[in-house]
Amino acid sequence: MAMVKDPVCGMRIDEDEAETTSEYEGKEYYFCSQECKEEFDKDPEFYAEGKTGGAGGD
Ligand SMILES: [Zn+2]
Repeated sequence: MAMVKDPVCGMRIDEDEAETTSEYEGKEYYFCSQECKEEFDKDPEFYAEGKTGGAGGD
């Protein structure tokens, strides 16, 4: 199991407990609710930019 962050509301959730997911530019995002996914899908670029870590890594 792995903890991930819902990029819309910022809630930390377990991958396995995510209500729904969405894929954007080859990366999978996890959401606590359908509402968060819909919000993400409206403007995925905005929320994807909110990821922590900055440059480098992976
Ligand atoms: Zn959420």
